[in-house]
Order: sequence, then structure tokens, then C-alpha cells
Amino acid sequence: MKFRTVIGLEIHVQLSTRTKAFCSCPADVFDLPPNTAVCPVCTGQPGALPVVNKQMVDYAIKLALALNCRVNEYSRFDRKNYFYPDLPKGYQISQYFYPLAVGGYMDIDVDGTTKRIRIRRLHLEEDAGKLVHEGDSITQAKYSLVDMNRCGVPLVEIVTEPDLSSPKEARIFTEKLRSILRYLKISSGDMEKGALRCDANISVVDLERNVSSNRVEVKNMNSFRFIEKALEYEEQRIMEALMRGENVEKETRGWDLATKTTVSMRGKEEESDYRYFPEPDIPPIVVSKEEIERLRSSLPELPDEKKLRFVQVYGLPEYDASVLTMDEFVADFFESCVELTGKPKETSNWIMTEMLREMKELENEELKIKPEHIAELIKMVDQGEISIKTAKEIFPEVFRTGKMPSQIVEERGLRQLSDERTIFEIAKKVIDENPQVVSQYRSGKKSVLSFFVGQVMKQTRGTANPKLVNEVLRRLLEG
Ligand SMILES: [Zn+2]
Repeated sequence: MKFRTVIGLEIHVQLSTRTKAFCSCPADVFDLPPNTAVCPVCTGQPGALPVVNKQMVDYAIKLALALNCRVNEYSRFDRKNYFYPDLPKGYQISQYFYPLAVGGYMDIDVDGTTKRIRIRRLHLEEDAGKLVHEGDSITQAKYSLVDMNRCGVPLVEIVTEPDLSSPKEARIFTEKLRSILRYLKISSGDMEKGALRCDANISVVDLERNVSSNRVEVKNMNSFRFIEKALEYEEQRIMEALMRGENVEKETRGWDLATKTTVSMRGKEEESDYRYFPEPDIPPIVVSKEEIERLRSSLPELPDEKKLRFVQVYGLPEYDASVLTMDEFVADFFESCVELTGKPKETSNWIMTEMLREMKELENEELKIKPEHIAELIKMVDQGEISIKTAKEIFPEVFRTGKMPSQIVEERGLRQLSDERTIFEIAKKVIDENPQVVSQYRSGKKSVLSFFVGQVMKQTRGTANPKLVNEVLRRLLEG
């Protein structure tokens, strides 16, 4: 049977503003003790009035522009009514009828081709508090505690059209969104800390019978890997149901890390359940064309533009340019290196493989490596002072200690032996000690050359210049 998977995403981004959406409490509450960043506004005390945070609106407009959306000159807040213990007001302030921005897109690279994912809308809202269940959340909670620090923390919600057709595309989309958030410096984009939260709607179409499954919403995917894993699991579950001639329930399911499956959370609520109505305490947001243009001109060079420039200016393959521009720090590092080396592709190879591998292992430590380190490594290899193998061997030490490569090479006696006379003498000795192998070579078995090369390398602890060793050995064996 043939199937097509249809995925749409709803992503919440926590904006890194100084204060909350509608009051002057701090917005970065992740490490604060419970209920220490609260006030009458964000805890919904009677008579308290919300005031819109301008920085929040500016950040959201920047994001909307970076995602090619049309920013509405008029937008408005609405109340989304529901009861939950972590929502003291009994409603969440959101934008329903008149969102801040609509009609955008983001291009993603999937297996070497570019795919455009449309963005339906982008709007502002406030976060809710957090419930902490005593004991275990799944098993025997005797009571629950509420922490209202997160109430009123500013969020942007981004809703895509159902243009994604695989779990992998959903992961790539979210990763690229994080990259853009970090370029804009408007959110940490940390999924582990809840600054980037992704919910997905997934359905599967049976192309042979032309029927579509119900749509399932998947939540709790708090890492890029889990987005892909949870959706793969769900895709498979829906396909199997279709193959049995059944349909799946229209419901909300959560990714369960322990069992690596999705589990039912609740039936999907309809939007009408929330009884949206205009927020009477906050005037509409009116943004002039000039203001929008001012914000547009303040945008930095974004990943797509940077990638294009890296291809055009440095002649890099598209793949390299994509990898290097994912992270602005890495992109800047690359450019500083190239200024020193003048060799874009060699520099890119070092950064994409050795450096990114080491960076993945880092946890919050300060980065000690500087562009000068990579430049010196490339120069030493080019000038034959060390082999590429030695260069790769010492790289982790350069990275971890911040010592210059030349210093490590000196300390460990790894300088490449390129003195022809010394190599000649070692080669001659090796040949004299192995007359049988010499006669094998001379009777036509040329492959034994590698035995001699190996012996010379061993005697020089791997520092002999391999090209020179080969030349000298050939001359001795054939001369
Ligand atoms: Zn407050």
C-alpha cells in the first residue's frame, strides 16, 4: 500500500525579553525559586491591569519578518478561557481573531533539495504556570503544588500549514527555526528548558483507497530527536490502523520517554470550547509601516542569506555552507579562520568535522580554540611540518587546552621528518635487514612496498613524511 504523511506544527517560543508580557516581573524564571517572580497582574488579582511589553512586540515582529510573514498593522489580544490550577485568571491572554502576522514561509534543506514550508500565522500569548506533582507525576501523587513564576512569560506561537511530509522534515524545520531565533537573539531556543516547544498534528493518507486518517496531536516532544522519534512512532501506528481497515481516534497523545511510545492524553478539544472573546483591558497593537520597515532593516544576515554568500564568495559546496551557517558563532569562526588561511574549503573541512565533533562533547565550558589554532594547523600541514594524520591526532588537545599546535608538536616530538638524508639512512637499514622481501619486490610483487613503508614509519614513530618515504624506498629498491 502507498501512504502519504501530512504533518503540521504548532511551535511555542519563549521570548528572552527582560520582563514578562504584561507586567514588570522578570521573564527569565527558569532557575528562580517557586512563586518569587509574581505580582498582582500575572497572578490575576482583581483590579490589576496588564500593560503590553514593547520589547515583546518588537521581538515577535522581527521573527515574523525573518519568517517572511506579512505583519498586520492592526492586531489585538483575546481571552482564551479555560480552567486549570496553573492559570490563576481562568483565561490566557492570546491573539485569536487578529494575529500579529500571517502568511509566511521557511525553506528547509531535505536530502539536498529545498522545500518550502508555509507558515499560516504567528501570534503573541502569555505562558501559564507550572504544576509540580508530589511523588511521581504518573503514579502516586498525593498532592500538587503550583508555581506561578511562568504565568505571563511572553510566548510566540507559530502555526505552519500541513506542508511537512515526514518526521525528519519536522525535526529539520524545528532545528532551523531555533537557528533563526538565535541569530535574532530573541530566544535561547533551548528545548530542554522549554524555551522552544513543539506540538505536531499528524495524519496519514492511504493513496490507494484515497482515505485520510483522523488527525492526531502529539505533545511533549522536548528534544529534536524526540520530535522525529515520536512522529515516526505515530506515523507507523496510524499506517497499521489503516492497513487493518480501521481509523485512529482523533485525540491528543504524548511522547512517553520511558516506553518510547506515544500514549493517549485526552480527546482533542475543539477551538470553540475556549469561548474566545476580545481582551477588554488591552488596547489593540497598532504598528505603522515605517515601524515595520525599521525593524526589517535591523535584522541581521540570516542563515539562508549567509549560506548563499558562503557559496558565492568562498566557493563552498552548498552542504558545507548549510552546516557552517546553522550556528552564527560557527559561521563567524569560519570567516575569521579564512581571513588567516585564505583557504575556504580546507578550513571548512576542519570546522565541519573535527571542530564540530569536539564542540558536541562540550558542556557549558568556555571555548578555548581560536581561529589562529586552525590557521596554524592548516599551515603546518601545507608546509609539510606535520602530516594530516598528526594534525588530526593533536586536534582534540588543541581544542581542549587552547595550546598552539606548534607547541604540542614540539612537546610531543611530532614534527614531520622531511630530511631526505635521514629517511634515506633508515630506509636503507630496513632494506638491508629484509633481503627476502626485497627479492619479492624485485621479482614483481610491488605490493610489498607497503611493508617497507610501514617499517620506516615505525622507526620514525610515524613522523616521516610519507611521500618522501615512498620516493626514497622506490629509488633504493629499483636502483
Ligand atoms: Zn507579574
